[in-house]
Amino acid sequence: MVGADALVIGGGLHGLSSALHLARRGLRVHLLERDYCGRHASGVNAGGVRTLGRALAEIPLALASRDEIWRVAEDYLGSDCGFVPSGQLQVLETADDVAAARVRVDRLRRLGYAHEVLIGPEEVRERVPRIAEHVQGGIWVAGDGYAWPYGAVMAFHAAALRAGVGIREGAEVSRVWRQGGQWHVRAGDRVFSAPVLVNAAGAWAHRIAGQVGDPAPVQVDGLMLMVTQRTAHFLDPVLGGSSRPLSLKQFANGTVVIGGGLRCGLDAARRAAEVDLMTLWPSARTVVGLFPHLAAVPIARAWGGVEAFTPDGIPVIGRGREEGVVHAFGFSAHGFELGPIVGRIVSELLCDGASRLPIEAFSVDRFR
Ligand SMILES: Cc1cc2nc3c(=O)[nH]c(=O)nc-3n(C[C@H](O)[C@H](O)[C@H](O)COP(=O)(O)OP(=O)(O)OC[C@H]3O[C@@H](n4cnc5c(N)ncnc54)[C@H](O)[C@@H]3O)c2cc1C
Repeated sequence: MVGADALVIGGGLHGLSSALHLARRGLRVHLLERDYCGRHASGVNAGGVRTLGRALAEIPLALASRDEIWRVAEDYLGSDCGFVPSGQLQVLETADDVAAARVRVDRLRRLGYAHEVLIGPEEVRERVPRIAEHVQGGIWVAGDGYAWPYGAVMAFHAAALRAGVGIREGAEVSRVWRQGGQWHVRAGDRVFSAPVLVNAAGAWAHRIAGQVGDPAPVQVDGLMLMVTQRTAHFLDPVLGGSSRPLSLKQFANGTVVIGGGLRCGLDAARRAAEVDLMTLWPSARTVVGLFPHLAAVPIARAWGGVEAFTPDGIPVIGRGREEGVVHAFGFSAHGFELGPIVGRIVSELLCDGASRLPIEAFSVDRFR
């Protein structure tokens, strides 16, 4: 039996961030990862660091994650995680898009949030000169950007190791139980024990949650991205869509990553997304509608990751029914940006008894 102060299940960004923050608070932490750290969503996503367009409950967390961790990652972690504060622009293509954007930005203003700014078509073209003529405006967030997903996972991994976290890869947690005031988990032929258990098992976290009395109705799906071959520089900010799915960014090497919440099927046994080119096609068409010159640029490859979606599209973050359990899962295709702050929240819940940021909306109890 291996004893510790806290056990973390899952070596994605949320598990590593939780382990790092707990270890920095002085706890002896063991993290158990079935495959290898960053193998799943955290290592293969689009890298969007986006506060733009968040559900209201997520805004304080997204802003804190960006401003208190992503933007200072070099100091915080010893690596900048490839974070580029390029800005993000939500493209408004129709009069209805503009009207809906105005309502949102006004509402945010009334709630005290000034990070989303409505801009007109001229300013959109100043920021993105090659965008199609029909675009009628945008919502602009200056401090958002993108980071390098696998690099970020590895930065948290290295910082967690330096903080003393015991990271075990190839360690699948097959059973969780509570006895004598401790949580016990079986991974292979070993049993790990601690008073505290963090469930950050990504698209498989609902299985752990079910074992500790916190059922959550998540849907597990594949999520796809594609990348083009290199093309001449034409885009600085990350672009998102309004009335149709779109996510688009160009890297310094000229390649363009295209996504937009495109879901696909899964091979459950391989724990892998099954990329479906017919579903990718409409997204490519949207992009060419906005940037006709991209019609001549070949797609280099497409890939997918596995993600858990909650019915209301916001995650589960917070205590479970049983003492000592904290969940962080169900990030519904936008958890990369939140990973850094969620680890801090987990550590506050377990070390201080409460989170400094409001997390009531994310309670697993909402599904009861
Ligand atoms: C294609 C794609 C694009 C995306 N784009 C963005 C984006 O641009 N911006 C953004 O903010 N978000 C994005 N996301 C969402 C984001 O990647 C996820 O929300 C986030 O990475 C989830 O992190 P996690 O640590 O919870 O899960 P994961 O990274 O999946 O990690 C969970 C880990 O738990 C392990 N595990 C599971 N069960 C067990 C067990 N029983 N025992 C031991 N280990 C176990 C798994 O092996 C896995 O490594 C995207 C996701 C995908 C798939």
